[in-house]
Amino acid sequence: MTDPHQLLVRNPATEETVALVPAAGPQDVDAAVARAARVQPAWAALAPADRARLLRRFADTVDAHLEELARLEVREAGHTVGNARWEAGNARDLLLYAAGGTERLLGKQIPVPGGWNVTFQEPLGVIGVIAPWNFPMPIAAWGSFPALAAGNAVVLKPAETTPLTALRLAELGLEAGLPEHLFQVLPGYGDTAGRALVDHPDIAKIVFTGSTRTGREVMERCARLVKPVTLELGGKSPSIVFADADLKAALDPLSFLDNAGQDCCARTRILVQDTVLDEARDVLADALAAVVVGDPADEKTQMGPLISAPQLERVRSYVPADAPALRGSAPDGPGYWFPPTVLTGERPDSAAAREEIFGPVAVLLPFTDEQDAIRLANDTPYGLSGSVWTRDVGRALRVSQGVRAGNLSVNSHSSVRYWTPFGGFKQSGLGRELGPDALTAFTETKNVFISTEGPAQ
Ligand code: NDP
Repeated sequence: MTDPHQLLVRNPATEETVALVPAAGPQDVDAAVARAARVQPAWAALAPADRARLLRRFADTVDAHLEELARLEVREAGHTVGNARWEAGNARDLLLYAAGGTERLLGKQIPVPGGWNVTFQEPLGVIGVIAPWNFPMPIAAWGSFPALAAGNAVVLKPAETTPLTALRLAELGLEAGLPEHLFQVLPGYGDTAGRALVDHPDIAKIVFTGSTRTGREVMERCARLVKPVTLELGGKSPSIVFADADLKAALDPLSFLDNAGQDCCARTRILVQDTVLDEARDVLADALAAVVVGDPADEKTQMGPLISAPQLERVRSYVPADAPALRGSAPDGPGYWFPPTVLTGERPDSAAAREEIFGPVAVLLPFTDEQDAIRLANDTPYGLSGSVWTRDVGRALRVSQGVRAGNLSVNSHSSVRYWTPFGGFKQSGLGRELGPDALTAFTETKNVFISTEGPAQ
């Protein structure tokens, strides 16, 4: 039974209780938004260089607590300690990058007859950020830090299972000298605190990351208030492997096992040219057997547990015991463990091949040629990311143009860099985060025309 007044944070590797955290209700959301609205105008009025200085101090404070933040992420989310350090470093780096943007939030001078015309990028006000549990720290940062840099206040609701690193980030912001109430974290349940944030008339924009199902509801509710929304939703991303590719690199199972597959960019559809299918199967079988699955706090571990018992059940439901598959191993006993798995007998239209499983499970599907690869890659409702593996540059470019997804990598499995825009096509989302335009997404464009013709005589 869940307690509506508090959140139970469990260590997913041991099932031990890590913390009990009071859950915010609708009145707490009202009070937090009112506080944020009071302090935001003074923050927006600060000289850009002063806002930048405070954000850089915030980055330094995060840096000084990097190991503490990483260890907290290991305990509440089961991330491997190596990944968790990267995540805390990503929050720090994004603060520095966004701080640089405060002084470069440029408008335009547009030539018009009869006067001068200039545009301004003005902050929206109070931004509501709703974060998921799969990357609690980076996703909280991607929604919040560019918004702060652009002169907004932020109220952030982390996922009910993983509120601790977000709470700590807010404390570190205060310690660094951010104005009180500018960056508030309200742990709570999605159907109460989350909905209250979305429905609040003084929240100027919602940034939501999570499932397509909930994202759709968030968008519908925002529509009633004509409230802008950024949605980062699900994915079922392909890795397209041509016969001429470096098969070992292309079939690196961490492309779908990182964070135990709980990654919207995970390459869970491994599309392999039919002429090398048997060889690919052998490479994958060896690689899966070598993946180190276990205690996420151990430096050698490559894959930890799933986040929760319901997530484990969900993943299991896609993998019947007798399904043809290549399988790695996972620990027994307490914790939410599932072995690395590649399903080898799926049809392209099966549930496992089309739905976001959000676990360490991929499907292996053959294709014949370039056109067939593009058709198969595009055959899902999603369009978040993907990889193209080939030594033929022309083919890499043609396939990159043909695949409808927001973030593609050629001869690489990477997806997210804070310097570059991130977001999805189709039902993977709406809008972009990160990159050079990250701050602009938290502004309104104001146009001012100044007549040079003087008042009529
Ligand atoms: P949700 O989309 O339901 O949750 C994401 C966030 O939204 C959480 O903070 C959640 O709060 C909140 N939320 C839930 N309902 C509402 C609502 N009605 N209004 C406002 N906010 C709400 O994802 P789940 O945690 O339920 O995960 C289910 C599946 O979604 C996963 O198996 C995976 O397939 C997908 N998913 C995809 C992610 C991605 O990055 N693309 C991230 C997370 C999940 P609370 O924690 O209380 O539920």
